[in-house]
Amino acid sequence: EPGLYIVATPIGNLGDLTVRARDVLSRADVIAVEDSRVTARLLQHIGVKRPMTPYHDHNAESVRPGLVARMGGEAVALVSDAGTPLISDPGYKLVRDARAAGHAVVTIPGPCAAVAALTLAGLPTDRFLFVGFLPAKAQARAAAIAEVAGIRATLVLYESGPRLAATLAALAEGLGDREAAVAREITKRFEECVTDPLSILATRYADAPPKGEIVIVVSPPGEPEAASEDAADAALAEALTRLP
Ligand code: SAM
Repeated sequence: EPGLYIVATPIGNLGDLTVRARDVLSRADVIAVEDSRVTARLLQHIGVKRPMTPYHDHNAESVRPGLVARMGGEAVALVSDAGTPLISDPGYKLVRDARAAGHAVVTIPGPCAAVAALTLAGLPTDRFLFVGFLPAKAQARAAAIAEVAGIRATLVLYESGPRLAATLAALAEGLGDREAAVAREITKRFEECVTDPLSILATRYADAPPKGEIVIVVSPPGEPEAASEDAADAALAEALTRLP
């Protein structure tokens, strides 16, 4: 069927490619990719050979109209290097233009590092804000953190190893020393998820900048409900021991 297919791919473990994703990729007339080397590896793993065309931040404006035109008669799949396209990755303008042109837009959902990290962190998940990457420069970063400081939701951020400690310190400074989780290399061999107050995490990673890909999850302002309940119970129990 002609149209645009948004295909999520694994964020590490290739076993996480869905049956439907494999099916759509194997039948696509063309696959729009961020990095053809990365997608070629995935296609080889599943024994699929389909034409690829680059679609990334630097050529998107110029190749988008041609891709949209092709959707009239061809199945165009969009993938990113890892995870769900459009999530800190290119694609929303392609979807917007495909819809405007009246083409079918079909999503093939799958792995997303932000959601995977939320499932590991053990922090509240009822309300969360996806912040994505913070600006690299200190002043812009502090401003971006100040903007979300009052939001009563768990925050989810993407970060790289070399910048992790500085970002954690900036978060502790701008948000207060909230409980947070650093989820690293999710679904890969050296997966780990560490939970501690932001300042302790900042110190820990300042000594040894970690390798690999990272998601930071920060708890909402104020104590998470379960924790405050526990704290209240503990305070009560302690008070009771003092009664004559
Ligand atoms: N579209 C992707 C998704 O659905 O998660 C995100 C793309 S963004 C350019 C890449 C960032 O996602 C990395 O810098 C890291 O913060 C995060 N990420 C991707 N894979 C990850 C993994 N296996 N473990 C932890 N974080 C990951």
